[in-house]
Amino acid sequence: MKKLLSGKLHILSLGCAKNQIDSEVMAGLAWASGMTMAERPQDADVLLVNTCGFIRPAKEESIEAILTLAQIKKQQGHAMKLVVAGCLAQRYGKELLAEIPETDLLVGTGEVGRIAGHLRNLQTAGPKRAAVVSRPDFLMTSRHERMLPSGAAVAYLKISDGCSNRCAYCVIPSIRGRARSRRPDDILREAETLVARGIREIILIGQDTTAYGRDLKNRPALSGLLSDLSGISGLRRLRLLYAHPAHLRTDVLETIAARENICRYIDLPIQHIDDAILHAMNRRVSSKTIWEIIRQARGLMPDLALRTSLIVGFPGETPKRFERLLDFVGETRFDHLGVFTYSREEGTPAANLPSRISEKEKERRQDAIMSEQADISHAVNRTLIGSVQEVLIEGLSDRSDFAWVGRCRRQAPDIDGITYLKNGPAAIGDFVRCRITGADHYDLFGEILFDNCEKKSL
Ligand code: SF4
Repeated sequence: MKKLLSGKLHILSLGCAKNQIDSEVMAGLAWASGMTMAERPQDADVLLVNTCGFIRPAKEESIEAILTLAQIKKQQGHAMKLVVAGCLAQRYGKELLAEIPETDLLVGTGEVGRIAGHLRNLQTAGPKRAAVVSRPDFLMTSRHERMLPSGAAVAYLKISDGCSNRCAYCVIPSIRGRARSRRPDDILREAETLVARGIREIILIGQDTTAYGRDLKNRPALSGLLSDLSGISGLRRLRLLYAHPAHLRTDVLETIAARENICRYIDLPIQHIDDAILHAMNRRVSSKTIWEIIRQARGLMPDLALRTSLIVGFPGETPKRFERLLDFVGETRFDHLGVFTYSREEGTPAANLPSRISEKEKERRQDAIMSEQADISHAVNRTLIGSVQEVLIEGLSDRSDFAWVGRCRRQAPDIDGITYLKNGPAAIGDFVRCRITGADHYDLFGEILFDNCEKKSL
């Protein structure tokens, strides 16, 4: 590629793993066009913040991050440029540009693939500020060479982007566009490249991964994609996240159960269990189906780690409906669970619903679920004491009584707990067998087994 750019770029990526991939794609495109990366914002010529705009706390975090970088830009006193990209930029566009005068360029989610051209215009166009917000239809391919963190053993892989579900509370379809699946051969190509670059665990993501393929001509099945990916030589772990219960089919569960290198881990964001609330949320799934999926998944995989996410305080969630959710959490005993308070987002159908719940009550309900789940997670973790788990070592422990931190197959990065390991001749990126010797509410503790240590350096 022709080198169009010069200088150093610092990228701050906020929000979810899908945003992180966009940041890696933008970094790769900038690098291929001649820029180098700056780890510290103070050392950069261009600061780029890839924002999240999903719910109120995420928006606040994004604004704070932009203001922090704006402050650095002011202090540096040279021609540093500030670029705001991502979901918040897509959602608020010119309004955001006007609110934060230090912003030189604002680009929406549809512009990820054109970032090098935008940065070039920024470097040549002088002091003119601009907002470029187009239709959010960008879909990465294997030709986009992502810039991965150095030494990474784990990478996310986006199998689709956007969402066509239109859940009543969610702004994602307007920020990220309609559901668009990547072609299976293109996904396979990227997965093979990732493995060739040293990645041992691939985590498949999308806004709704179980809707994969429905928009493509031959409607390729997610189960076929999983099988093909699991056959890649050298891929030690494959994990699927964001499995919407309305689209999770038996063949996907069977494939996960059958393939040795696919983690027996299901992330099933159900959001609620009361049928009236599920209907008002436009989740297109009933409590009966959710129960059935969980029963079937656990029947196929007795050692399954099941994760869910919930929303409390949705309009119309009466005390009785909330109690139903709380009872369901107690009965189902998820291995991992996250709970959000409902955030009223302008432009969504739910924003106009009556019977709103106060913030205080939402937080009370969130606390009630989290406290119920803390006991469950602790009890589930304790059942693992004495078991042998395969752990991917990811770093040094910050606790003096343990040497390493890593994740077993039951733990996804960032959202679940971690495993602390004592002793052992190991290195970051190794898979080791370990015996679990302790557990708390979220984390596991263990020791590396010397007798049968699978030590595979990357
Ligand atoms: S499935 Fe629903 S909650 Fe998830 S991104 Fe799509 S519209 Fe939003």
